[in-house]
Amino acid sequence: MYDKWPRPLEERHTGRRTTRRGRDKVTGTPDGKRWCPAYEGLISAVTCRESRGKIKNCDARCPYFAPLIVSSGTRRESPNALHKCYLRHVPTSGVATVLISRKNPDGTLRLMTLLLDLWKVGIQDCFVDVRMVEDLLAKQLAKEVPPFAEASLEDCQKLVKWAERISREVGREIPWEYERWNDMLGDIGKVPDIDGSLYKCAKCGDNLPQKAIDLMKRYALRADMQFYMVCRKCGGEYDDSW
Ligand SMILES: [Zn+2]
Repeated sequence: MYDKWPRPLEERHTGRRTTRRGRDKVTGTPDGKRWCPAYEGLISAVTCRESRGKIKNCDARCPYFAPLIVSSGTRRESPNALHKCYLRHVPTSGVATVLISRKNPDGTLRLMTLLLDLWKVGIQDCFVDVRMVEDLLAKQLAKEVPPFAEASLEDCQKLVKWAERISREVGREIPWEYERWNDMLGDIGKVPDIDGSLYKCAKCGDNLPQKAIDLMKRYALRADMQFYMVCRKCGGEYDDSW
């Protein structure tokens, strides 16, 4: 059952990690989401919390260990120097991935990966690798299809802020990793909110009428629904009978 785990290290650094879920290596429940360097496999958030700091190899090198240090009174450090930001929009899906890398003092990188769904739940998932090698990141990025493009921090901040607003308005749970590592995004509080409607036209990016927004918000948390909403100008009709 666990033949895919532990997966090779380099496989853990792609933007497609959202599909890599599986059984908790300790309890066997299907909610394994965090790759645990101590158990060398996927574990659930509950197992992580219960084991944290109590087993061999569970230490500060793991991003999930860090809250322990923060909650015990250590001051939150200011974000490390920005390395690069990358962005990928998947065409006609509303899906975007944001990568933000910052430099660790030892020359390695700290990488935040944010999976966004701007037509639905906003922030879909968030992962942080606290220590990754620059060459490895470049190699991984070269393999990605569609490719990532380098972007400004500001552009990434705007997208993430918009996605966060969507998540809050539809009642989607904000990933714990996003809350914990939010400082990697810089001062996102200063970034202005998006203008106009919460979701935008799938074709032209213009505002959508409130009726379409209400509909999308109502079904945003349903896994079986996918939207492709266009504005009236692009041929959209919003039937009251929905
Ligand atoms: Zn349009």
